[in-house]
Amino acid sequence: MSLTSPDIDLRAFYGGEYHVTSGESCAVTNPATGVSDYSFTTANEGDVAAAVSAARDAFDHGPWAGLPPMTRRFMLLAFAAAIEKKAEVLAAADSLDMGKPISAARQEVGIAAGFIRYYAEAIDKFYPGQIPPTPGNVLETQIYRPRGVIAAITPWNFPIINAALKLGPALAAGNTVVIKPSEIAPRSTLELGRIANEAGLPPGVLNIVPGAGPTGQALVSDRNVDMVTFTGSTATGKALMRLVGESSLKPLLLECGGKSPEIVCADMAGQDLNAMGKMIAQGAFWNQGQVCVARSRLIVHSSLADRLLPAILLAASSMKAAEPHLPGTMFGPMASKRQYEKVLAAIASGLADGAKFVLDGRKAKTPGKGFYIGPSVFTEVPAGSSLEQQEIFGPVLSMQIFDHLDQAIELANTTEYGLAATIWTRDSVTAHTLSYAVRSGRTKILTAPIESMGALFAHCFEPAGQSGFGIDGGLKGMASYMRLQSIEHVFG
Ligand code: ADP
Repeated sequence: MSLTSPDIDLRAFYGGEYHVTSGESCAVTNPATGVSDYSFTTANEGDVAAAVSAARDAFDHGPWAGLPPMTRRFMLLAFAAAIEKKAEVLAAADSLDMGKPISAARQEVGIAAGFIRYYAEAIDKFYPGQIPPTPGNVLETQIYRPRGVIAAITPWNFPIINAALKLGPALAAGNTVVIKPSEIAPRSTLELGRIANEAGLPPGVLNIVPGAGPTGQALVSDRNVDMVTFTGSTATGKALMRLVGESSLKPLLLECGGKSPEIVCADMAGQDLNAMGKMIAQGAFWNQGQVCVARSRLIVHSSLADRLLPAILLAASSMKAAEPHLPGTMFGPMASKRQYEKVLAAIASGLADGAKFVLDGRKAKTPGKGFYIGPSVFTEVPAGSSLEQQEIFGPVLSMQIFDHLDQAIELANTTEYGLAATIWTRDSVTAHTLSYAVRSGRTKILTAPIESMGALFAHCFEPAGQSGFGIDGGLKGMASYMRLQSIEHVFG
């Protein structure tokens, strides 16, 4: 049975209520069918100003920032519980909007609630302020305060997790938020308004504006916004920097694109290559490759390549595209027609550049008329080609070979990005050499094909290069949403 379209209010949510907006109409297509599913009215400049003003008022006059930390904690814990209670509605929204397999969508709602809970629990346990040494008649307290009104702009690849990753630390730190979800998958975020009311969050603490680029531009340019947090493409990240420069000074937290290398060293030869092949395929094709930290560039030692490639191809070919609503589906369609066409264009340019196409996802058996492309693999990827350099955000893995570690480092650092890197080696010297030499915010060293959730909610890092800046995640990520104030008290 296919999923029923959830009953979600598609209007803007601010000041504790849903409001009609006056922007343009925006259609959302179900990527599993290619058929237009519904449309919503975007928030225009006036609607955005009203939402920001509700957030401003709730920050300046509302109880939120000044509440006893424990009260804020209980409210956010109630918010997390209410998210879990709505798991089916939220998962159906994300699955229908961007083609995510329903089993993954359900899991992601649990992770989103986990992020809110993690930061809620941190409120009365995380106080990074300090008291420095001073003369006896002076007391300097260095305290961390909320920044004020936070504008959050999120992408469509993990809609509910991306929202929680921003709302959790921003709200826990005492800020109020106006969030704009992606126009491709807005519904799960819009439903958070209703959920916030059910959980008893005060009006104006969480505000939501639906829309595309123009709505985001209005939000970022609003002088009542104190900070912008963004996850999305590098091009949009740059546009946001320009907008901020032209409006009012405010800090930016930018998590942008990636083209993350995965280096397999010669010493891994004795490991289970089939199991490694599975993990490599999973790392590249998870969420149809629409992951900012997707391991999309495989850099393999020449002694291993011939044995590892068949294992990867076997694992990749077994990731069969199927309809997202079926409980066993692991691989769905691309999130939108635009994304589908972008991936096809990337494949065409790889072919034009002379790379060898060893698994053609365009020929994969797919269900029906949706935007499906199966896992695809290129080898012999030419240096400098767009296949090597450009983020595709789709199920396309490119493989290159190295003989010496210096070559591996050069290949790994050849793009402008610096989001993530994976290194397969059991040799500690190689592991340290590569993790220091490869530009990356989030480096993973694998010594055997073992899956791990790692630090999950506590995981934090700062991107490098054109992948953005600012610390996201964990308690340090919570501090990003705080401003350090020093108060020097001289007594006579
Ligand atoms: P993608 O190309 O994968 O959709 P984007 O960076 O364009 O990635 O989108 C990420 C988020 O940024 C979405 O919520 C989108 O609506 C928003 N966005 C896109 N362009 C702009 C812009 N010029 N100003 C503000 N937000 C924008």
